[in-house]
Amino acid sequence: MNAIKRIDPRRPFVIAASGLKRITLGEQAVAGATSDDALAALHRGHGQAPKPRRVVESNGRTLLVAAHSDRGALDEHARQVVAAAAIVADKNTEVVLLVFGELTDDAAALGADKVVEVPELARPAFAPDRALAALRDCAAAFKPAHVLMPDNATGDGDLGRRYAARAKASVATHVVEIDAAHVGCMADAGRSFATRAWPEVILLDAEAVSSKLPFVGAGERIALPSAGGEGGSSAASTSLDYADRGTTQLDAAQVALEEADFIISAGNGVTDIAAFEALAQTLGAAVGASRVAVDNGHFTRDKQVGATGKTVNASVYIAFGISGAVQHLQGIKDCRHVIAVNLDASAPIVKRANLTVIADTQPTIAALADAVGQAKQGRQATLPPSASTGANVREDVAA
Ligand SMILES: Cc1cc2nc3c(=O)[nH]c(=O)nc-3n(C[C@H](O)[C@H](O)[C@H](O)COP(=O)(O)OP(=O)(O)OC[C@H]3O[C@@H](n4cnc5c(N)ncnc54)[C@H](O)[C@@H]3O)c2cc1C
Repeated sequence: MNAIKRIDPRRPFVIAASGLKRITLGEQAVAGATSDDALAALHRGHGQAPKPRRVVESNGRTLLVAAHSDRGALDEHARQVVAAAAIVADKNTEVVLLVFGELTDDAAALGADKVVEVPELARPAFAPDRALAALRDCAAAFKPAHVLMPDNATGDGDLGRRYAARAKASVATHVVEIDAAHVGCMADAGRSFATRAWPEVILLDAEAVSSKLPFVGAGERIALPSAGGEGGSSAASTSLDYADRGTTQLDAAQVALEEADFIISAGNGVTDIAAFEALAQTLGAAVGASRVAVDNGHFTRDKQVGATGKTVNASVYIAFGISGAVQHLQGIKDCRHVIAVNLDASAPIVKRANLTVIADTQPTIAALADAVGQAKQGRQATLPPSASTGANVREDVAA
């Protein structure tokens, strides 16, 4: 008899950059969604069919999720945190999402029941005191049982810690595992794993939860509740003792590929490299390449995207003349919108792409460069003289 213990192949997991991680959130934790409908929707995969609404019978308890948006969208990490709250929420629990910035995403699809937007605190404004005040206003209005935020280095992690300190709340940071009752974190410099009951503030690491939900929330948009009796939202009125000197725009070529938000990448199907690079300049996009394009000597090795090159995380990745070999796809798995330009409609990149243009790369590059150039000229002509200087260093508040 074979006595070797085997891992249950149906054990839930997510694949993260650092490998395979078990998650404890699963179908059985999807309380509130009528289970048959929810599971049917789950098994339909990407499903065009509408997903069922998560049932909230009474809103006795609130989970508050707070995160910054970027140009109207939450990043994948923030989406995972909203999903975590929605999955553990039972039928008496509402998920309220506080967004610093605008949210043009479908809030219901993210799993949120109520959404509060604070557009004036959009990135890249540096306003931690005002964000903290907005978070405290929201917490005062909704009295959440728990506050969940992404533990990132772009503002939310810092804000969550500030909030916990100010509210004298219990907090768990860098949470890598979560279920309806417990959170788990690495301890002892990563040598051991510790679990505890849910604290008041939970700062969740990326990839602990899948953001794909078998149900939707109510997605109701409401105004930022103002702090009781203080005459308007304290988010707007907090006095500051620091200055936001704004952001400085870098040439896209200077941005590391891993940090670039917009990448155009060339493969073996691109022959006019100069036109391709000129397009990148016009679009303000960083340049990437497939291994073949690098091996051919068209690009330096640091431009290579893929398993043996860079893993990129762009919001938009345009692949010109790239077949989409598995090694290349590995490098773009975290990209949000992939656009492919390829003559071959059966190339593997087409399956990965959100949009594919079946065309020759050379005329497509030329047409795109023309269209963007004309659009830029048109925009320049309509701008008042002072707005066309390109000055992008801003001073919002005086010290
Ligand atoms: C161990 C190992 C590691 C690897 N690591 C990487 C890696 O990190 N990154 C990487 O990219 N690859 C990597 N590779 C190589 C990978 O397997 C592929 O060979 C490579 O990605 C193919 O590059 P390509 O798509 O540019 O070229 P091709 O496979 O030649 O594909 C070219 C594509 O362009 C299209 N095309 C051709 N002409 C035109 C045109 N005029 N207009 C429009 N479309 C056109 C074709 O239809 C085709 O789909 C690795 C391979 C191995 C074995």
